[in-house]
Amino acid sequence: MAEVSEQQIIDALGNVKDPDSGKDVVASGMISGLQVKDGHVAFAIEVDPARGAALEPMRKEAEKTVFDLPGVLTATVVLTAERTGGGSTEPGPPPPQGGHGGPGHSHGQDQGPGGQQLAQAGQTIPGVNAIVAVASGKGGVGKSTTAVNLALGLAAAGHKVGLMDADIYGPSMPRMMGISGQPVSDDGKTLQPMENYGIKVMSIGFLVDEDTPMIWRGPMVQSALEQMMRDVNWGELDVLIVDMPPGTGDAQLTMAQRVPVTGAVIVSTPQDIALLDARKGLNMFRKVDVPVFGIVENMSYFNCPHCGERSEIFSHGGAKTEAERLGCDFLGEIPLDIEIRSTSDSGHPIVVSQPDGAHAKSYRFIADAVWQKIGQTLAAREADAPKIVIQ
Ligand code: ADP
Repeated sequence: MAEVSEQQIIDALGNVKDPDSGKDVVASGMISGLQVKDGHVAFAIEVDPARGAALEPMRKEAEKTVFDLPGVLTATVVLTAERTGGGSTEPGPPPPQGGHGGPGHSHGQDQGPGGQQLAQAGQTIPGVNAIVAVASGKGGVGKSTTAVNLALGLAAAGHKVGLMDADIYGPSMPRMMGISGQPVSDDGKTLQPMENYGIKVMSIGFLVDEDTPMIWRGPMVQSALEQMMRDVNWGELDVLIVDMPPGTGDAQLTMAQRVPVTGAVIVSTPQDIALLDARKGLNMFRKVDVPVFGIVENMSYFNCPHCGERSEIFSHGGAKTEAERLGCDFLGEIPLDIEIRSTSDSGHPIVVSQPDGAHAKSYRFIADAVWQKIGQTLAAREADAPKIVIQ
């Protein structure tokens, strides 16, 4: 079936009327952030927050109107607080996944304490003070290794830390954190996270066999991630580190939009910088209004385990220059070192197994920088007028 076009959607929405003004939602300029991807459609309708509840039937009608168009697999529509004097594309709507008619779908308003409202309002999961996404433009750059050691660096500074493995395609947290077994549920509703090195951990890897190939479709990814986030008894956390799926495709965008992320850390290798993959990661977060705390250059240079010589095999330093060019911070560099690989792959990450070494120090340095960024972001957010999403 041919993919539905934006124009077809706009035309159809021309029949949906604001009950108060009698004008249609397109002519009234209420539609924002329309996204169409492979038959998945999402957008927001901007309304006066005071009218939120009254306009729920209009939201439903818009959703159904779009869902009924040929070629539409899912339609997700949210009401957002209208902005004064702004353009019509930001902030974005929820991702074009799940939504009306999609398997396992859930709308923002059914999500209990969380979901879209919180994501857009910038709040977090109850008890969780901040969420930091660790992302990369592509796989294999050391994103998970960085996420683990960053989490441990934050814990070493005395913070209460959780670690969520959103890398559902290749969950590595059970192995890297040296945890086996399955999480249990005390109340039949929420799972108790697993724990090691003082960090609470949740990963799909605890629930399915590591060797089971997993084929995830968009809505399944969405609900798996949301469950790991919200149906886990995280308790009180200063920060929840989220190891994102690699890349900048739909699953990542969905995650960045649906999860109330405080800020993102982009992990990149020098080659990756040259190939612009890191920039894609950065742009993804900017697109969904998530502040990028900065870039970590991993496998920055090579430390020879025999002679101790340092070789800059990939013209190291690119991340720093690139970060400057892109107007984001450079958080630090980690060398390519066999000790980092062997410790993280054997479940004894270097920050805990060699806490006095230079690498642990580098990770703790990055953790300090991230902690400061969290503080600044939360303070700035508090000072700002909240962006309220109603529905
Ligand atoms: P990603 O999450 O980006 O796919 P991983 O963190 O799983 O990447 O790392 C891929 C492999 O590279 C792992 O075997 C890991 O131990 C190794 N690795 C990551 N960072 C380093 C580093 N700085 N030095 C040596 N090996 C590393």
